[in-house]
Amino acid sequence: MIRDRATLSLLIDSIGRFVRERLIPTEAQVDETDAVPAPIIAEMKALGLFGLSIPEEYGGLGLTMEEEVEVAFVLGGTSPAFRSLIGTNNGIGSQGIILDGTAEQRASYLPRLASGELVAAFALTEPGSGSDAASLSTTATKKDGYYALNGTKRYITNAPEAGIFTVMARTDAADTRAHGISAFIVERGTPGLSLGRVDRKMGQRGAHTCDVIFEDCRVPASQLLGGREGVGFRTAMKVLDKGRLHIGAVCVGVAERMLADALAYALERRQFGQPIAEFQLVQAMLADSKTEIYAARSMVQDAARRRDDGHDVATEAACAKLFASEMCGRVADRAVQIHGGAGYVSDYAIERFYRDVRLFRIYEGTSQIQQLVIARNMIRAAKW
Ligand SMILES: Cc1cc2nc3c(=O)[nH]c(=O)nc-3n(C[C@H](O)[C@H](O)[C@H](O)COP(=O)(O)OP(=O)(O)OC[C@H]3O[C@@H](n4cnc5c(N)ncnc54)[C@H](O)[C@@H]3O)c2cc1C
Repeated sequence: MIRDRATLSLLIDSIGRFVRERLIPTEAQVDETDAVPAPIIAEMKALGLFGLSIPEEYGGLGLTMEEEVEVAFVLGGTSPAFRSLIGTNNGIGSQGIILDGTAEQRASYLPRLASGELVAAFALTEPGSGSDAASLSTTATKKDGYYALNGTKRYITNAPEAGIFTVMARTDAADTRAHGISAFIVERGTPGLSLGRVDRKMGQRGAHTCDVIFEDCRVPASQLLGGREGVGFRTAMKVLDKGRLHIGAVCVGVAERMLADALAYALERRQFGQPIAEFQLVQAMLADSKTEIYAARSMVQDAARRRDDGHDVATEAACAKLFASEMCGRVADRAVQIHGGAGYVSDYAIERFYRDVRLFRIYEGTSQIQQLVIARNMIRAAKW
């Protein structure tokens, strides 16, 4: 749902200008230094980017899902590391609090997340549980007025920067699956919480992940998300449904950027006496990419509209994330191919994008997990 097209256009124009004038010229530096410069972060805060999807009453922009994906298409036009920095505050880091937090928890954290004063992280994955997230083994044992958390979370985006962590932990040792899991908001600085070394990743340098370790970490009972035990896994799955649409939209934006770079190169590079864009085999790669991007964009927009209309879009979100992330990988591969040898060396952005986009098929549910979600929902629906 787009509430006011003129207002959204203004927002998209200003973000588009920021992407072109500030972010694209800084991409290479971010990759080399593995850091987003502080002045850029300050500008992101001023533009409201940390609070895109946080309700207006808490100081965010309160975008609908359709509006959010339109913004994500534009943000995808540059290095995904920039989006990653604001991604957790808008998505997996804040949505649990928005959807299931108590009034006090919302009032306490959402305004600071919306302004960017506080960065949020979402801690579900563990060394022994990734795709099978419901098997997680971090425990939260209730004592007098607090929970003692023990366990390790792995690959947690923005953990080095985070001020709060939404942590999924097992409160019912007798239930080894989803119903034994609860979610907690754990503040950085809580005794017993420590961080591992920052991971050395294949791509998206400038965006950071690391282990988050809990050793008898005493979390006040008031930090139990929503004040209810046993519903943390459901919260996590709801958060991921929304996140998948957002990631799908980012994949579309990045793919459009890679295709634009490939087209520009194909028009400029000459072989056999003519621009390589004139060769039909190169044109096929351009056309296939254009077609697949259009299909992914349409899927993401449709699923976002359905979500805004109040429908359960678990299947559509999985379809959109699966198709858009796989499409993005194919477009990256073709764009490198169109660049020839220049695509393999780091003088051109495509070498970096090729590494950056590989992650989209892995996190927030691998492609195989999206396939399982889609098929499981189809079978469930057929049985009713
Ligand atoms: C850079 C980065 C950032 C991340 N950020 C976060 C974060 O902020 N918070 C967080 O909680 N997690 C985060 N993750 C973790 C991410 O969500 C997991 O890596 C992902 O869900 C896959 O889990 P895994 O790595 O344990 O792989 P595994 O689950 O071990 O999977 C390995 C392979 O087996 C396949 N597989 C597994 N089960 C099945 C099955 N049933 N059927 C078919 N194939 C299967 C998978 O598809 C995959 O190909 C991040 C990961 C990375 C790399």
